Amino acid sequence: MFRLDGKIALVTGGSRGIGRACCEALAEQGATVVVNYVKGETAAREVAEGIAARGGKADVSGFDVADTKAVDAAVDGIVKAHGKVDILVANAGISIDGLLLRLKDDDLERLFATNVRGAIVSARACSKSMMRSRWGRVIFMSSVVGEMGNVGQTAYAASKAALLGAAKSIAREYASRNVTVNVVAPGFIDTDMTSTMSAEMKEQLAKLIPLGRTGAVRDIAAACAYLASDEAGYVTGQVLRVNGGMYV
Ligand code: NAD
Repeated sequence: MFRLDGKIALVTGGSRGIGRACCEALAEQGATVVVNYVKGETAAREVAEGIAARGGKADVSGFDVADTKAVDAAVDGIVKAHGKVDILVANAGISIDGLLLRLKDDDLERLFATNVRGAIVSARACSKSMMRSRWGRVIFMSSVVGEMGNVGQTAYAASKAALLGAAKSIAREYASRNVTVNVVAPGFIDTDMTSTMSAEMKEQLAKLIPLGRTGAVRDIAAACAYLASDEAGYVTGQVLRVNGGMYV
């Protein structure tokens, strides 16, 4: 079940954290994975080499999702090299936290350029190939705070909430072409993004999670592998919350 043989997948921000785990999970299911990076070329190559060492297929592609022209050019290049793009995991994201009164305009714009515009233009670029194939999977990486809100995360939570509206709209727009569009909303996952939190903060957070633990990147990657599969072909416009019950 959930095999992805013959599929071409692009994972933005795939060189570390959740993105890396998604690359590895999709490759394990048989997809050829294109690992996008913006700064971490060495790390991206290591992900691709690790996949190849386990008998999988992977490639790397460096571009900044906040640069629309670069996204379009890179996706064109992927289609030329691999013939198509079937699966997009729009995972690249940044968090800039701070109380509202201290929120800087530049930070607000940078967050939206990466987290919202980056995901939407990536979907737009990949959708041409998906529509041609009459098969596609778009997965947006949101966050539990996009639905719950969180003190000090106005801009980040707003950017993650925006992905829900975008996914539901694109899901309706592309359903007739057999392209599904869904959102994965991770809870608190142990990655570099969350590593700056103090042990005390993490302990407090863990108390809010009914399953009693923070999440692992594999928990999110498994959800993406499912949504990318043929078996999830009747699931579109949905939010799959992978959060240990933190928000239900
Ligand atoms: P991370 O910081 O380890 O990884 C983010 C990746 O995105 C990095 O590889 C980074 O280089 C890449 N990236 C950032 N800006 C980019 C750009 N402009 N163009 C291309 N790539 C870019 O973080 P993570 O925890 O693995 O998070 C992955 C996604 O999951 C993010 O969208 C994040 O908001 C979301 N998320 C994470 C958590 C968590 O608890 N870790 C919870 C909810 C949602």
